[in-house]
Amino acid sequence: MAIPFLDLKRVNAAHDEAIRAGIARVIDSGWYVLGEEVAAFEREFAAYCEARHCIGVADGLDALALILKAYGITSGDEVLVPSNTFIATWLAVSQAGATPVPVEPDPRTHNIDPARLEAAITPRTRAIMPVHLYGQPADMAPLLEVARRHGLKVIEDAAQAHGARYRGRRAGSLGDAAGFSFYPGKNLGALGDGGAITTNDDALAAKLRLLRNYGSTVKYRHELAGVNSRLDEMQAAVLRAKLPALDAENEARRRVAAAYLEALQGLPLRLPEVVEGAEPVWHLMVVATDRRAAVQAALTEAGIGHLVHYPIACHQQQAYAGHSWPPLPIAEALQHQVLSLPIAPYMTGEDVRRVAGVIRKALA
Ligand SMILES: *Cc1c(COP(=O)(O)O)cnc(C)c1O
Repeated sequence: MAIPFLDLKRVNAAHDEAIRAGIARVIDSGWYVLGEEVAAFEREFAAYCEARHCIGVADGLDALALILKAYGITSGDEVLVPSNTFIATWLAVSQAGATPVPVEPDPRTHNIDPARLEAAITPRTRAIMPVHLYGQPADMAPLLEVARRHGLKVIEDAAQAHGARYRGRRAGSLGDAAGFSFYPGKNLGALGDGGAITTNDDALAAKLRLLRNYGSTVKYRHELAGVNSRLDEMQAAVLRAKLPALDAENEARRRVAAAYLEALQGLPLRLPEVVEGAEPVWHLMVVATDRRAAVQAALTEAGIGHLVHYPIACHQQQAYAGHSWPPLPIAEALQHQVLSLPIAPYMTGEDVRRVAGVIRKALA
């Protein structure tokens, strides 16, 4: 039997009744933008993230870009970003008019290496934007220490880490502000695009509420040159239906990840490592090998889904041609070695053993 990379229909079927009830509530309300559902979701998600504020926005990229804009980070400013991430992290910095400055990852976790931050800081550096890649929190304690020493803002890209914890605290309350995405395939996914910002910074939250809505809180009065980037009522209702089950689904992902780690022992394969104090939510299950092509071919042959996150490093994308980048050998090596295996809350130990068996044979 085939094992898809991620079956979203199956993920959402577990919430079918609650999702349909939520959507019906929105239809019947006659109010479709910035109403009760968004306000309620913002309260519920802020509480979930153990943060004081949540501001719903259109998507994860906007969440990150709006935080930068609200902090006044723009042309001439530099933001430290991981060399190994989804391009949205970099695009958010570019959208704000600032310059992304890549910092290489720790090869054990693929997350930004706090020991490499200081060498990348210049008088123009304003912020660090760590990504909790694959659902594992970045090593925040040493990172926050560097930020404090240099007076930098810390903006979490938490788009892959809904519910993850670091030293007991949730992603979304580890820095000055955090951007989340509710793209359908994320651990908390909508039925379309969606995003949110969480923060404990009251002034920032107030400014973001203006910025996302034409710079306005009172209709037709505009205090700032804002944008239109709002989470809509329909998606907020869907997210409210799914949020109560997020911890249980993350726990199910942890069981799948543990089964993988056990079943893939002893192979010429680098398995994910978890840093001290991190409780990942396993958005992705990423292994690394120099014999990736053989494993990919065997998985495809067996009807098992797989993807590469990510096949081209951000600095090598055409979108960033024409800039000069420092040598980034770790990110450049990873893009040829990483392989994402199927992971989802509905997967069984039997599924995992089947995937592992195919990989074992391919590497024998
Ligand atoms: C998905 C993702 C984003 C962007 O989210 P969108 O809602 O798709 O704009 C940003 N950063 C990371 C690391 C992501 O995985």
